[in-house]
Amino acid sequence: MLRIARFCRSTVCDGPSIAASLQSRSIVSGHTCQQAEPLPLENENLDLSSRTQDLGAIRTDWTREEVNEVYSTPLLELVFKAASVHRLYNDPQMVQRCTLLSIKTGGCPETCTYCSQSSSWRKETGLKAEKLMDLEETYQAALRARDSGSTRFCMGAAWRGPSQVGKGQWERVLEMVARIRGLGMEVCTTLGMLTAEQAKQLREAGLTAYNHNLDTSPEYYSKITSSRKYEDRLETLANVRDAGISVCAGGIIGMGEGNMDRVGLLHQLATLPEHPESVPINALVAVKGTPLQDQPPPSAMDIVRCIATARIVMPRSVVRLSAGRLNFTLSDQALCFMAGANSIFDGDKLLTTPNNERNEDLQMFETLGLRSRPAFLPYSAGAASSNGSCGGSSCSDSGASDQRVAMQA
Ligand code: SF4
Repeated sequence: MLRIARFCRSTVCDGPSIAASLQSRSIVSGHTCQQAEPLPLENENLDLSSRTQDLGAIRTDWTREEVNEVYSTPLLELVFKAASVHRLYNDPQMVQRCTLLSIKTGGCPETCTYCSQSSSWRKETGLKAEKLMDLEETYQAALRARDSGSTRFCMGAAWRGPSQVGKGQWERVLEMVARIRGLGMEVCTTLGMLTAEQAKQLREAGLTAYNHNLDTSPEYYSKITSSRKYEDRLETLANVRDAGISVCAGGIIGMGEGNMDRVGLLHQLATLPEHPESVPINALVAVKGTPLQDQPPPSAMDIVRCIATARIVMPRSVVRLSAGRLNFTLSDQALCFMAGANSIFDGDKLLTTPNNERNEDLQMFETLGLRSRPAFLPYSAGAASSNGSCGGSSCSDSGASDQRVAMQA
């Protein structure tokens, strides 16, 4: 019998009862309750299925079979369950708007078959390698993003990792992090493989989060890239976690993988020692000239299914509806939010691929009654040391702490 997990009833926790949580969310944002336990159903009418999982329980011991069982649930039933879990831990009206900027485009030595920035297919894509952006230009882009309502600024560099580049470039990136962190925005970077020392330096610079996607299942990974191993990805994620940086890790749907690879990806993420605070679900944007150029795009319902499954197996993570939503209708996106997505990328470009217009997104927020998630609303998933609330020395003078207080009041 399926049961909905109960929050702890300690005096420091005001977690909701089942009925209350399904009606409205009243828990304190960011409460990191580790004491979820199955609750015998007080009202058998709330019994949602004959399965045995505890919906909403925080678990890192999911089996693949269990994740597959969730993933294979009939779609509307799956969305209903995911929406119920979503309300246990998140304000369903609140969706974060993030901006992603490519600070160093093209010329990447890695061989990701979906990516236009790999130097391996630069002749076919025609993408020219650019230099690392300068500090002021990047800062101004972040300022514009903040003024447009983004609360998280992500910077991507087409590198194998910082070890590959000169000291001057690495130091410039650290400066970018510190300066943009001072704007009161969450700052995320995606720079490839990190050593433990590099992760520590990013944390000291004030980095909120580090993105490093697992992309797909371990079994399918060798079909996606030949220049690194799945274990390398996991090692970087461990270095990020150990440095106390919030972890952002997700994948890409539509690269020719099967359903069991999607299950494998979600299983891998849900069984990391702590759930990532942030789980981007991307739909492949097939770029001309890349080996995956002829891949048909995944359907919006494929993405809804992945988001709903992610929401159920990682109830407290921010699930990010990321690349590839340009072709989605308003209704498609509404179903994604219903299924538990609580972040989008805004701005008309995502690294090198097009994205939805900001004005359209604002209209969508209004139509759906969504509100922008503020920066530094504490992340309740993951480890206590990386709640995304504070990084380096710029934290205290950024105004971010004021926003935190306001949100918690
Ligand atoms: S996805 Fe990242 S690592 Fe892979 S080729 Fe593109 S820029 Fe390089």
